[in-house]
Amino acid sequence: MQFEVHYQPIVDLNGELAVGVEALVRWRHPVRGLLAPGDFIELAETLGLMPGLGLWVLREACAQAVVWQQDNPGFKVNVNLSATQLSSPELTDEVGAVLADTGLPPNSLVLELTESMALTDLTESARVLSSLKTLGVRIALDDFGTGFSSLSHLGALPVDVVKIDKSFVAAMRETTATGSVAEAVLHIARTFNLAPVAEGVEDEMQATLLRELACAEAQGYHFARPMPAAELTGLLTRQSAG
Ligand code: C2E
Ligand code: CA
Ligand code: CA
Ligand code: CA
Repeated sequence: MQFEVHYQPIVDLNGELAVGVEALVRWRHPVRGLLAPGDFIELAETLGLMPGLGLWVLREACAQAVVWQQDNPGFKVNVNLSATQLSSPELTDEVGAVLADTGLPPNSLVLELTESMALTDLTESARVLSSLKTLGVRIALDDFGTGFSSLSHLGALPVDVVKIDKSFVAAMRETTATGSVAEAVLHIARTFNLAPVAEGVEDEMQATLLRELACAEAQGYHFARPMPAAELTGLLTRQSAG
């Protein structure tokens, strides 16, 4: 197996403790080394490999989260869905089977789909997401804010979490959070009663500004990079030791 799942902590911005992870697939290429999804996801999608690879990542991540939950009750795992997975009529059954086989509590699983995927066919997305939600899982809109044109449709989707796109976090260069695009996006999230998670937090200033805007959770190199499961186990052990 040349594929691996790496995990990036999602932290509580107040205590800066990892409350969950996002699963991110990697390809350990025999010649080219460790490849990030940008180098192969599109190809895998074209070759029709993504539904299978995505399902493998889901199974791997859920099984791993069950292990982490032994010492970290309520620990969450976020898993990305591809466009082909979202349009597969088997998706809900497959996710249900993974939850049953691994024993992960459904509300510990957050399925991420990009805003642009969700808005391609709003009626169909609403149907698929509602079906997934009958399992008890939660849904996150990824890269939130990048598909602004269809904002008015947001209320039509059964979404729980929005991941504030890293471009808006990167733009937080001022000394005050007020007036930033991130502030506006957070305001929209609240209006729709969605829990925001800021992506791509790279420095303490961004973390401070997000805290001022009452964004509860964040993810980014400032806290930790994506890492293999064993490394994350070490991080969680050090975290519970205080
Ligand atoms: P994404 O879902 O938006 O994931 C976040 C990406 O931002 C990850 O890139 C992560 O390594 C990177 N990142 C995290 N913190 C920072 C930061 O502070 N600054 C910057 N500049 N970047 C940061 P990665 O791992 O290369 O993944 C790229 C994309 O590939 C993901 O974007 C996601 O759309 C897709 N992807 C990854 N794993 C899977 C998977 O298992 N299935 C599917 N369908 N897509 C996946
Ligand atoms: Ca994601
Ligand atoms: Ca994202
Ligand atoms: Ca992205």
